[in-house]
Amino acid sequence: MNHDIDIKKVRINCFRQSKVAGEFMLQMRVPGAMIEAKHLKLVQDLCERFGNGTFHLGTRQTFDIPGVKYENIEEVNKYIKSYIHDVDVEMCGVDMDVTDYGYPTIGARNIMSCIGNAHCIKGNANTYELARKIERLVFPSHYHIKVAVAGCPNDCVKANFNDFGIMGINKQVYDIDRCIGCGSCVDACRHHATGVLSLNRNGKIDKDTCCCVGCGECSLICPTGAWTRGDKKLYRVTLGGRTGKQNPRAGKLFLNWVTEDVILGMFANWQKFSAWALDYKPEYLHGGHLIDRVGYKEFVKHIFEGVEFNPEAKMADDIFWAENEQRGNMHVMPLSEHKHAGPQEPAKKQA
Ligand code: SF4
Ligand code: SF4
Ligand code: SF4
Repeated sequence: MNHDIDIKKVRINCFRQSKVAGEFMLQMRVPGAMIEAKHLKLVQDLCERFGNGTFHLGTRQTFDIPGVKYENIEEVNKYIKSYIHDVDVEMCGVDMDVTDYGYPTIGARNIMSCIGNAHCIKGNANTYELARKIERLVFPSHYHIKVAVAGCPNDCVKANFNDFGIMGINKQVYDIDRCIGCGSCVDACRHHATGVLSLNRNGKIDKDTCCCVGCGECSLICPTGAWTRGDKKLYRVTLGGRTGKQNPRAGKLFLNWVTEDVILGMFANWQKFSAWALDYKPEYLHGGHLIDRVGYKEFVKHIFEGVEFNPEAKMADDIFWAENEQRGNMHVMPLSEHKHAGPQEPAKKQA
């Protein structure tokens, strides 16, 4: 059967064009990559009733249903209504009307995450919970954005290659009286992290705090509990990572030691920033390219409007994506030390 298909319209509805004429692949969102197993029955049903009987785990952790015929899209959209309601409205708290017309937009891509501290012993953060909170701020929206959340700087989810790559980190607490000087944390940090620990002549630990990535390998290995994870949940965020044919690049360290409130405040401004940057025109531009176009300094001004930083927070003074950055903290410093144009006030010392 011949169809006059508006590919763009179908794509916005989360159906991707197939190399087989008249067929599409549905991409179902799974924010944070964690949902109740009961939804798998619906996915299987979709594949067998409307697809070609196969199933693909999407590269952005979506449920992909290939082989959906164009003439069945309407029925599929009705079929997934309960899934969109359960996952986006109930589970993530997204403020949206779920209709018979399926997904309203594809702009904000599925928020990815590793399993985080729901399972992984290295996890400093509940990744899927944070992903769900971000989902409700960026979806539905026509503005393109890719976000991934890793539970620790090991970054198994490759957050570094997203517009925003978030990693759970932690300020470790050292109890000198419990330390027996075994050196295990020194080895663990050298082998699995950044090698910032050393044993001093008193058999206790010295730490070069500048390059500690807050991973928690030292606390994991310590046999006496001299190292423990601190109470405060903190994050580092990389900015501007992407794949693609034109300018693939890893993200650069953007924020360090920020709280969840700072992260959520930032994403709450994303749609407003995108609209402003695109002069309120419906132009399709990847999030990273949008930041490139606006410039880092201008981006920062908009994205942190009304956001209050926690005292430990650090932010990159500037980001140079083309540089060869050897030490992650090169451009990260207390906000009071950032350079500004014009007459300078005497620098205030941060507590
Ligand atoms: S990124 Fe960290 S928390 Fe996530 S799976 Fe990998 S090691 Fe575990
Ligand atoms: S692993 Fe624990 S006990 Fe051993 S040197 Fe490090 S802090 Fe001290
Ligand atoms: S938290 Fe810091 S000191 Fe501990 S292992 Fe990681 S990088 Fe090393």
